[in-house]
Amino acid sequence: MLFDILSSVFMPTALGLLGWRLWGWPGALAGVACGAAAVQVVHTLRGRRFVQWLREPDLNAPSSTRGLWGDAAYRVAKMLRGERERVRESAQRLDDFLAAIQASPNGVLLLDSEGRIEWFNAIAGSHLGLDAQRDLLQHIGNLVRQPAFTAYLAARNFDSDVELIGQQDRPGRPVRLSVQIFPYGAGQQLLLSRDITALAQAEAMRRDFIANVSHELRTPLTVLAGFVETLQTLPLTDEERATYLGMMATQSERMQTLISDLLMLSRLEGSPQPGMSEQVDLGAMMALCQTEASALSSLLYPDDAKPQSLIFGPVPGFGLTGSASELRSAISNLINNAVRYTPAGGRIEVRWEQLPDGRARLAVTDSGPGIAPEHLPRLGERFYRVDRSRSRESGGTGLGLAITKHVVQRHGGELQISSTLGKGACFALCFPAVRVQVFGACA
Ligand code: ADP
Repeated sequence: MLFDILSSVFMPTALGLLGWRLWGWPGALAGVACGAAAVQVVHTLRGRRFVQWLREPDLNAPSSTRGLWGDAAYRVAKMLRGERERVRESAQRLDDFLAAIQASPNGVLLLDSEGRIEWFNAIAGSHLGLDAQRDLLQHIGNLVRQPAFTAYLAARNFDSDVELIGQQDRPGRPVRLSVQIFPYGAGQQLLLSRDITALAQAEAMRRDFIANVSHELRTPLTVLAGFVETLQTLPLTDEERATYLGMMATQSERMQTLISDLLMLSRLEGSPQPGMSEQVDLGAMMALCQTEASALSSLLYPDDAKPQSLIFGPVPGFGLTGSASELRSAISNLINNAVRYTPAGGRIEVRWEQLPDGRARLAVTDSGPGIAPEHLPRLGERFYRVDRSRSRESGGTGLGLAITKHVVQRHGGELQISSTLGKGACFALCFPAVRVQVFGACA
């Protein structure tokens, strides 16, 4: 800069002195004027070059101009470089934010002050059936046309959410969404959508469960109340009284069985998985189950000419690790069901085997009525019954298979059911190889 000032002073002075020496005062004036004009031309040319560079600034070569203009170009370039770095960082941060929002399991959608869609993540797109190319800047109310959402938008009360049907909802595969709008900034709105299908299903299951339990308890309670009233109001003979008391005992036993099955289910759900330390003696357990099955069979078909044939396979040459009480309950549920649902004269076979892959399998096969294929996937749901009256008559609670399924799954195994209607059914428990301990095998 100092050089610029000196050269601006030096040039007119030098030319003025030269003019003065050559032509006296007129020469001096002409010299100063020429010097000033030359300085002006140089500045104008440099200024032009600077302005040209400014139009498309190359930040790596901040103008070839020297002097004051060169200095200005250098400073502008430096400022622009800083600005560009800040813009790049902001863009990077924005990209990171958008990537994080894209990764969110919830739908996020931004609306402008008019309710038009500005941006949304992929989840919001799939929840609400929006297309990122087609639907930007469209009014949300024109695209999501469920009456509940239209009413929610119109009410403008965004303190709570609204439940909508998801775009991917199909018959038999419901999808439920919770959608809520949060106002922000200058009239903009943030819309969040969340898949609450599992929650809604759990809530529906809870409601069904309570309704089922109430229903199961109400029947014996109504019967009991009726008998109590009869005993209180009618003059009965000793024999009649004994009959009524016997029927009352049956009903209270039914309630007790139901409560104990419910408690068993809640214990199974609330306790940790059975460990690997307890070794279950399957031989002793199967002997107990056999005695119990014979007793039940003769109780159900006492005077029948054709008793059921109960066939128990050989004692398995292996044991299982797990909870003996749970396994006992699961196995006797299957055997008792086979006895209860197979008519007199039918055949029930119970057999353990070790599969080639090391797993252990217990199959309970009967020659009973069998189960139609449409019921098979639902067996194991609480209170799901195929033959309601047979279940109740024989003291069933509708929870036996649910308990069995739970127990086998807690042991890492599965309940397999196969059946041909009219020809019988096979219920099998399959346990993983890690739980099988073959006798005599080296550790
Ligand atoms: P329940 O106490 O009613 O027997 P479960 O959960 O043990 O309840 O069984 C559910 C339903 O499955 C029964 O109500 C019955 O209709 C059917 N079921 C179970 N075992 C058999 C079987 N061996 N043969 C035919 N149907 C069966």
